[in-house]
Amino acid sequence: MPVRPEPSFKEEAITETITTPAAQHSDVLTISAGNLEIPTAAQPAQIYWGRATVLVSIHLLALAALSPYAFSWTGLILVLVGHHLFGMLGVTLGYHRLLTHRSLQTPKWLERSLATLGVCCLQDTPARWVAIHRMHHQHSDCQDDPHTPAAGFLWGHFGWLFYQNQDHHTLSNCDQYAHDVLRDPYYFWLERGVNAFLVYAAHALIFFLVGFGIGWSNGGSAAGLQFGVSLFVWGVLVRTVVVWHGTWAVNSVTHVFGYRNYGTREDSRNNWMVALLSHGEGWHNNHHAQPRCANNRHKWWEFDLTFQVIRVLQMLGLATNVVARKVMPTEETATSQPEVEPTARAA
Ligand SMILES: [Zn+2]
Ligand SMILES: [Zn+2]
Repeated sequence: MPVRPEPSFKEEAITETITTPAAQHSDVLTISAGNLEIPTAAQPAQIYWGRATVLVSIHLLALAALSPYAFSWTGLILVLVGHHLFGMLGVTLGYHRLLTHRSLQTPKWLERSLATLGVCCLQDTPARWVAIHRMHHQHSDCQDDPHTPAAGFLWGHFGWLFYQNQDHHTLSNCDQYAHDVLRDPYYFWLERGVNAFLVYAAHALIFFLVGFGIGWSNGGSAAGLQFGVSLFVWGVLVRTVVVWHGTWAVNSVTHVFGYRNYGTREDSRNNWMVALLSHGEGWHNNHHAQPRCANNRHKWWEFDLTFQVIRVLQMLGLATNVVARKVMPTEETATSQPEVEPTARAA
């Protein structure tokens, strides 16, 4: 058994608040991609070959969807279903609102199930995803923001993933920002070796085998192979790419394009297209104004599908301590102070 790093502080004692003036970046649309240097921890720029290979490979393999052989209507439908099942429930609800911001509480079995759906999106382990996102909230649109588009739009979208960042690779740093997540033995297990990748690979294999079994029972082995391939290509590869770009668009597009309800200290925006693609995450200025709030819908038209799911969970008794929205002044009248995650470890 590996020895998990012991915390050197009492989490409950965290009282740090970020005191950066709220209007520092907010008076005008300040972002013009390329203003900032990439984070100090990512310099000198070195390709992260392991992850770069995976990112490029999945994109290239997903191009198999252009082949008629790999097509099935079921596979196509699975992109839409999987986008919600894995992208919304796994990443948006599980990784982001539940684990990162603790916007709600769920039974442990449900929390781990949602996080496992997130693992099936191949967006890093729960602890590292949480740590990087908390770094983003702490350093939003400043140099040490892991993925600000102020260092280049493509850097903010996916460029940052292709480079080594010392802040992301050490377990101690991860523990500093996501200690509460690492404390869970299951999430800690996911940090070991390639365990998280094996979970992704296992779910991909299940897609193929289920497709093969259904196709084989209807038309023999050739039909089984074709149907299995179609579910793998569309239901896993294409869906993974779609969910990736939805999540990445929150990091890039909604820090450049859109409107602002609040004078937050960064350049976050509300963008309806990204909100559609990411199940409510595109109301990103609302989110930065109140990171712990479970509901990103602050105006009547800002539909937040993920919050509707949270409400259903609440009605079923599966979600408690749902963090409600505070009434805040809008950008025209005042600026907001960012909130600090209660579970992030003080730097
Ligand atoms: Zn942001
Ligand atoms: Zn967030």
